Amino acid sequence: MEGECPQNIFTLSEREVMQVRDEKINTPKKYYIETYGCQMNEYDSELVAGLLEKQNYIRTESSEDAQLILLNTCSVREHAEEKVHARLGNLKILKEKDPEVKLGLLGCMAQNLKEDILKSKPYVDVILGPDSYRKLPGMLEADEANELNVIDTKLSRMEVYDDLFPARREGINAWISIMRGCDKFCTFCIVPFTRGRERSRSIESIVEEVIQVSAEGFKEVTLLGQNVNSFHHEGRRFHELLDKVSEVDGIERIRYTSPHPQDFDDELIAVHATNPKVCNHIHFPLQAGSDTILERMNRTYTKAHFISLAEKMRDQIPGLAISTDMIVGFPGETEADFQETLDVMNTVKFDTAFTFKYSSRPGTKAAEFDDSVPEGEKQDRLERMIKLQREHTLLRNESHVGETLEVLVEKDSKKSEKQHQGRTRSNKIVIFDKTGEQPGDVVNVKVLDAKGITLFGRILN
Ligand code: SF4
Repeated sequence: MEGECPQNIFTLSEREVMQVRDEKINTPKKYYIETYGCQMNEYDSELVAGLLEKQNYIRTESSEDAQLILLNTCSVREHAEEKVHARLGNLKILKEKDPEVKLGLLGCMAQNLKEDILKSKPYVDVILGPDSYRKLPGMLEADEANELNVIDTKLSRMEVYDDLFPARREGINAWISIMRGCDKFCTFCIVPFTRGRERSRSIESIVEEVIQVSAEGFKEVTLLGQNVNSFHHEGRRFHELLDKVSEVDGIERIRYTSPHPQDFDDELIAVHATNPKVCNHIHFPLQAGSDTILERMNRTYTKAHFISLAEKMRDQIPGLAISTDMIVGFPGETEADFQETLDVMNTVKFDTAFTFKYSSRPGTKAAEFDDSVPEGEKQDRLERMIKLQREHTLLRNESHVGETLEVLVEKDSKKSEKQHQGRTRSNKIVIFDKTGEQPGDVVNVKVLDAKGITLFGRILN
């Protein structure tokens, strides 16, 4: 019998097949990226976003709307890892609803826990360590051809992503990575194992990126590195980089994080004192005040050296604010050791501090120490430390009442849309009534009051 074969009714011509394939290739896919941990991870997420956007992916702010979901993870604290494990459990449901959705794990947990993740969460499609992000586009193409290569966590001695520029969101401050990795091996820290050896970008490529962010309207840059002030490239060091970056027009303020006390030399302190664009705020991580504990932490400085450096900085840099990091309850820390940390606090009177209870990270040297401090004792020390720091923060902030400070306007204040929030060069948050200025403007504000970590003031016309 003549007539159409029923099968042919549904069969596409070769041309139509090509059209469908081309449409599939040309229709942008949506990616969603969630970032945990430090600013370096925030920067890396922007870098990955830049790579994906070159591959015809567009960003979505909803994981439910995405064909590619990436979690950029942190291993520095146990709590951060637990959050990611729970989140992967949630995201598995999205994959069950739509098996085309791809789920990827990036960053330190990918590096550190790849075997665990592969075993316990086989639904994770892509696992990439911090030095493997260039491989992502290739992996996604391989996936289109059903050849998905799921894992790459090789650490590199060279990779600094020198030629890749991140896809940034709008803002006042742009984060710029200048070096990666760490050679310090503090005994409590997993970073040297997840991020590999230290290596720095060239000054030229960093300056090129600063010129680009200035053209995009950013007023401030924060230079980033796990050990930022040990930056060195072809014999040129960190203070020289700061001077070069300051030559870029349009950039008003330069900050950096996170430095190590060992790499603070006279030249670096002098740049803060003499270059008006280099902000008068230094993050100066103490970690502990007892020489015994500092040695067990492999911090490579003593209490006396730390205090003398802090005094030199305050002597030479006008209006300097110093912030710090401190850990309580490191293995073997006695009450007398802890008192020495309080001693340093009382001498330096930090402007602000990030305070942590020690938590053991498997794979670090300190995880092998067996003289742990009981949890109750750690909590008690942490509370005493926080109480003392609050007093010092208030004392430092109250010393600015009556002064006029230069403030970079950042955004609306959290409490009132009639007020702005801005930041001084010394990194203090200031709240003041709006009088027509815009984010990105630099204004003079008279400080009228100080509460907690915040200053309150009035704009001077
Ligand atoms: S300097 Fe110490 S704390 Fe900082 S990243 Fe390196 S090992 Fe970790």
